[in-house]
Amino acid sequence: MAYSDGTEGEIIVPKKWYEKLPRPAWSGYEKVDQPDGWFEVYRLTETVYAIYEDGQFEEVISYLVLGEDRAALIDTGNGIGDIKALIDGLTELPVMVVNTHTHGDHIGGNHQFNEVAAYDSEFSREKAKRGQSKEQMGHYLDGDMVWKPFPPYFDRDSWSIRPFKVTQWLRDGDVVDLGGRELEIIHTPGHSPDSVCILDRVNRVFWTGDTFYPAPIYVYSPSTSLDEFIDSFSKMVRLLPIYDWVMPSHNEPRMEKHLIRECHEAAVSIRDGAAGPYKEGTAHGIKVHRYDYDRFSLIVRAERP
Ligand SMILES: [Zn+2]
Repeated sequence: MAYSDGTEGEIIVPKKWYEKLPRPAWSGYEKVDQPDGWFEVYRLTETVYAIYEDGQFEEVISYLVLGEDRAALIDTGNGIGDIKALIDGLTELPVMVVNTHTHGDHIGGNHQFNEVAAYDSEFSREKAKRGQSKEQMGHYLDGDMVWKPFPPYFDRDSWSIRPFKVTQWLRDGDVVDLGGRELEIIHTPGHSPDSVCILDRVNRVFWTGDTFYPAPIYVYSPSTSLDEFIDSFSKMVRLLPIYDWVMPSHNEPRMEKHLIRECHEAAVSIRDGAAGPYKEGTAHGIKVHRYDYDRFSLIVRAERP
């Protein structure tokens, strides 16, 4: 996600969204004791941690993936909590950030790390240079958007998504080697021009970023493209035999992989005008249609060329 706006009705933010918490999907995983109440940390496997920020509406998830020589931090959350201090408490390995994309809710802690890898695009270069102001983050901290107390060290007034330095620009097919573990970058634009999925072939894990998660998926802002989104899902469907774990960047840590095929089919039928009923609304001044399915929704521009 990236556009959160509490003022434009329930098309984006359902009232009392937090009453759905805790989501049952998390209950099967070991919760890790750590001192910062802003984060919920779960150990999903011996070498993969999920860092879940359930206090804010977007319920963003970052992942810490351990190799033998170093660790990858897949995204850095929204910058409300001190994710660097949290990670320092979880591993002694050197840590490299690998971003699934550079929307504000995934790069909030990037500036705290010396090594950051992001997909090379005009979009991500601009984000690295400028960050994202509080205003550009919309109603991220307002009203019902946050239900947990902010951490004691957090300054709400000065919060913004800070610029950061990228030390490795990624391209499609690049491999990030953690020592005994390789993460392959699969460019999957659509939600944003710089969206990637991250594939661990040996362990059969597939991190989908915001290209797929179990909630409304935003394909409506000016920098999104439904056609590219569909092409990206064709790629993800072709890769289905190679992965079992689908790890999205919002709400829940592991999805049923057949949903990748379902989301592809849904997007195609929306493009072709063959999809079922939709809700109409406005998000950030853009007229949108929202199509609801069992485990996800797609929000697209009402007017498409
Ligand atoms: Zn997001």
